Amino acid sequence: MLSYRHAFHAGNHADVLKHLCLSMVLEKLIEKDKPLTYLETHAAAGAYDLNTAMPQKNREYMSGISPLLASEVSSEAMSRYKALVARYFADYKYPGSPAVAASVLREQDKLVLMELHNTEFEILRNNMRRDKRVTLHHRDGIEGVLALSPPTPRRGIVLIDPPYEQPLEYERIATLIAQLHRKWPVGVIALWYPLLAQERNRAPAMLDVIARSQPASLFTAELWVEAQASDYGMYGSGMAFINLPWTVDEKIALVLPEIQQILAPDQGGFSHRWVLSPN
Ligand code: SAM
Repeated sequence: MLSYRHAFHAGNHADVLKHLCLSMVLEKLIEKDKPLTYLETHAAAGAYDLNTAMPQKNREYMSGISPLLASEVSSEAMSRYKALVARYFADYKYPGSPAVAASVLREQDKLVLMELHNTEFEILRNNMRRDKRVTLHHRDGIEGVLALSPPTPRRGIVLIDPPYEQPLEYERIATLIAQLHRKWPVGVIALWYPLLAQERNRAPAMLDVIARSQPASLFTAELWVEAQASDYGMYGSGMAFINLPWTVDEKIALVLPEIQQILAPDQGGFSHRWVLSPN
């Protein structure tokens, strides 16, 4: 039974980190004319109407995308991401990762989006219906991405963004990434993960397993918006990349302090590092 609905969290600090990093990698990839494939294992609804009940419940966007949109930013990547979001915000909408990818990518590129939840899939279908570059799959994204890899065009990126509702999901993702990297060695793999308090924080163990199983190196970027709390909430999140294109690591390193200053100047923090395989 799938209970997670991303609309409750649309535009929060974790979305800002994920979608900004995603847009930066895509912008780097489209510097070359060659077409590329964008795959997504857990696409959710694609875009969100912030005036509806779910986003309004906790208004998480008010401490995520709203302060970013209201701030002056110095990095070009942030300015472009802000401009992309602002086009949706004009109608009080927030673009999820499928909409971010569809906005950055070109006519020659393909988007392959997977989503398992029935209602989310229907909303995704409606949001993407006019885009001829998009193929949708109402299926398990983990077995789906393995079945569809390597994609054609072979150049490209997969975003893996599970809800992490089950502790076993972390192990499943670590195994998936090792399998996927073997099947599609040139693919860029982007993985979002939550930073949770204390013993619920399973991401570090997952990243260790991924680093050990990778011949390629892993780059991680993390943003937290409060001190590591003693309660059970999510205090931040991270993005992990395999095959991150050159120079994007430096650009991400530059935007992180800026986002932290805007979203959480007092209690927040950030980190970025290359995790080298110990093998
Ligand atoms: N990537 C989206 C974005 O940033 O806009 C948000 C994705 S949300 C965190 C996770 C989604 O995964 C939910 O919509 C959930 O229904 C879906 N989901 C959960 N398990 C899945 C599975 N095994 N395969 C595909 N989708 C799944």
